[in-house]
Amino acid sequence: MATIKPIEGRSVHQIQSGQVIVDLNSVVKELVENSLDAGATSIEVRFKNNGLDAIEVQDNGSGISPDDYDTIALKHYTSKLATYDDLTSLQTFGFRGEALSSLCALSKLHIVTARASDGPKGTKLDFEQSGKLKGTSVVAAKQGTTVVVETLFHNLPVRRKELEKTVKREYNKVLQLLNAYACISVGVKFSVSNQVPKGKKTVAFATNSNPNTKENIANVFGTKTLVGLTPLDLRFEMDPSNRPGATQSARNWSTQEDAGSREVRIVGHMSRPVVGEGRQTSDRQMFFVNARPCSLPQVAKAFNEVYKSYNYTQSAFIFADIKLDTNAYDVNVSPDKREILLHDQTALLESLQDKLVELFEGQNQSVPSAPLL
Ligand code: ADP
Ligand code: MG
Repeated sequence: MATIKPIEGRSVHQIQSGQVIVDLNSVVKELVENSLDAGATSIEVRFKNNGLDAIEVQDNGSGISPDDYDTIALKHYTSKLATYDDLTSLQTFGFRGEALSSLCALSKLHIVTARASDGPKGTKLDFEQSGKLKGTSVVAAKQGTTVVVETLFHNLPVRRKELEKTVKREYNKVLQLLNAYACISVGVKFSVSNQVPKGKKTVAFATNSNPNTKENIANVFGTKTLVGLTPLDLRFEMDPSNRPGATQSARNWSTQEDAGSREVRIVGHMSRPVVGEGRQTSDRQMFFVNARPCSLPQVAKAFNEVYKSYNYTQSAFIFADIKLDTNAYDVNVSPDKREILLHDQTALLESLQDKLVELFEGQNQSVPSAPLL
């Protein structure tokens, strides 16, 4: 008798969903990214009991068309990508059509949505665990979409227990991630709150619809954070093929006819390496590629190395958005999309360090810091 058999469909869905949604962080990240992709200018994130009971993300974005209700939470249904090739010119956060489908498999999820043309009426959508639409009802709603995720991991007892144990730490990690989205999203008003059982609702932080990232940073971390920050605007060109030790992938990439521009621009804000000025901790270091928050440990290391060579007693506040051609990196690396593969990281890091040294050398270290707002 054959012992190799396919896994039953429902179990496959549950297994794969567990890789997309690994923790509280991935839930919030996926929902906030969906709101940003929907063109929202106001995003409210509400936690109930640090997220253990519920996570709600409300936006004022486009809303969802009734034609899409049936498929919105089905696996690999997306409005953002049609073929693999589209990945190289991706302008949205989402592209795999997996988040809502995975959340249906791992939590109790419902959506309330209304488009501008729907008036003060919205539609509540309920889903089955498979992501199939279970039913709809008419409710009062403003334009936009609210996604409510209740009792995350209710059907994965081991993960649920783990989450119950670690939820406070998880919640703090989520706040850090939300800080990054709120700082980078110019013109988007963020508000994040938490309601603990029998306690008061507390606002973790809020931003206004600021016209620039500096004001976002001031809203999130306080105006004092701006003391000693210098604007970053580094520009250079990567030439991966000429570097000794360039990887084969870099060489291939550089010879592709459609490789696009190799221009790099890094914009943001960073502590000036003046001893005694500001006092930042390393959890205030945020990196982005084309405004997508991501973890770039090698880039962080490169920044910190240069900073430490001027000031080894403190650690820097760093907020850096690396603007690259969409051909120059791959976001489809990890299920949670936090990792990004930069096609020629070595060349980028070398030029980055040269430019940073140039910036710090060029600054008169004794000039007063940038004025506050
Ligand atoms: P992806 O973001 O990769 O497309 P998701 O499962 O996160 O996959 O979302 C599926 C689809 O649902 C999206 O492509 C989008 O069309 C729609 N959608 C999800 N969230 C929202 C939202 N907040 N506002 C409007 N549309 C949304
Ligand atoms: Mg998405």
